[in-house]
Amino acid sequence: MRAPLVDGFGRVHTDLRLSLTDRCNLRCTYCMPAEGLDWLPRPQLLTDDELVRLVGVFASLGVRTVRLTGGEPLLRRGLPGLVARLSELGLALSLTTNGVGLERQAEALRAAGLRRVNVSLDTLRPDRFLELTLRDRHADVLRGLAAARAAGLAPVKVNTVLMRGVNDDEAPELLDWALEHGYALRFIEQMPLDPQHGWDRGTMVDADEILAVLGRTHALTPVEVRGSAPAEEFLVDGGPATVGVVGSVTRPFCGSCDRLRLTADGQVRNCLFARDESDLRAPLREGASDDELADRLRLAVAGKKKGHGIGEPGFVQPDRPMSAIGG
Ligand code: SAM
Ligand code: SF4
Repeated sequence: MRAPLVDGFGRVHTDLRLSLTDRCNLRCTYCMPAEGLDWLPRPQLLTDDELVRLVGVFASLGVRTVRLTGGEPLLRRGLPGLVARLSELGLALSLTTNGVGLERQAEALRAAGLRRVNVSLDTLRPDRFLELTLRDRHADVLRGLAAARAAGLAPVKVNTVLMRGVNDDEAPELLDWALEHGYALRFIEQMPLDPQHGWDRGTMVDADEILAVLGRTHALTPVEVRGSAPAEEFLVDGGPATVGVVGSVTRPFCGSCDRLRLTADGQVRNCLFARDESDLRAPLREGASDDELADRLRLAVAGKKKGHGIGEPGFVQPDRPMSAIGG
C-alpha cells in the first residue's frame, strides 16, 4: 500500500463517495429543476473499467469505504456487476439511493457484495411526495425499503431533509414509522447546493429545532462515539433504536472529515463545497500509470481547505449542484 492520503490539517482520508451518474428519475424540488439538468454526455462518463481502475488507486492509498451515489445510482446499467468488481478490491460498499428501483435490484446488489443502504425519503404522504419529487413513486420507495431489509442489507437507513412549510410537520411521524419498521432515520440539514440557489439559512430547519421537536415525544440520549461520522446519533427511549441528525451547516464536522469524492466524469473533489476539481479522467485516458494517478490524488487532498465556510463572508456555492457532485 502507498502512503495514506493526509491533508495539510492532518486529516487522513479513507472514505470515497463515488458518483455513478448525474441523471435521476425524480425531481426533488430542492435538488433539481423540473426539466432536469444538462446531463453529462455519455463519452465523458467513466466506464466500469475506468471506475474500477481509479477506485483501485484510491484503495492503494488507504481508502477503505466507498459509498455509491449520484444522481440516482440505480440508473447505472449493470450496477450489480460493478458492485461485484469493487467488492473484490476489499472495500466496504454502501449505496445512497432514492429507493425507486430498489425493489428490483436489492437482492442482486446484496449478492454482489453491497452491505448497507441509505434511502432518501422526505415524506410519508404520497400526495406530498408527488409535490416534492414531481413523480408519483412513493409506493415504489416503500417497497424498495422493504426489499432492502428482506435482502439482508443492514442497516437500512432513511435520510430525510426537512423544509419549512413543506414537510417539517412530519418529523415525529417519520420517527415513529422508522422505529416501527426497523429503519435507522437520519435528518439532514439542507445545504446550499441547489441549482436554483434557493437555499436560505434563515428558514432552514436546523439540528437544534429537529432535536427539540423529537424530544417532545421521545427521550433522546446522545451516543458518545461520533468519530468521523457526520451524524450525531441519539438512543431513542433508551435504545437500542437510534435517530441521527446531520448538522452539516450548524454543527459542521469538517475537523474530522475523512471523505473524498469522485464525480461520474472522473473529477476528484476534496470537499462537497470545493470550488476546484482535479481531473483524473484525462490522464487516465492518456495512459497515466497508477503512480502518476496516485500523485494527482495526493495533490488534490493536500489542497483541502480547513472547513466548508458556509455562512462566512465570501462563501460561494459550488458551480455543480449536489446531484452532479454525488451526494
Ligand atoms: N438520488 C439519490 C438519493 O436521493 O438518495 C442519491 C443522490 S442525492 C443528491 C443524496 C442525498 O442528498 C439525498 O438524501 C438528498 O435528499 C440529499 N440532498 C440533495 N440536495 C440537498 C441539499 N441541498 N441539502 C441537503 N441534502 C440534500
Ligand atoms: Fe434525484 Fe436524489 Fe436529487 Fe432527489 S435528491 S432529485 S432523488 S438526486
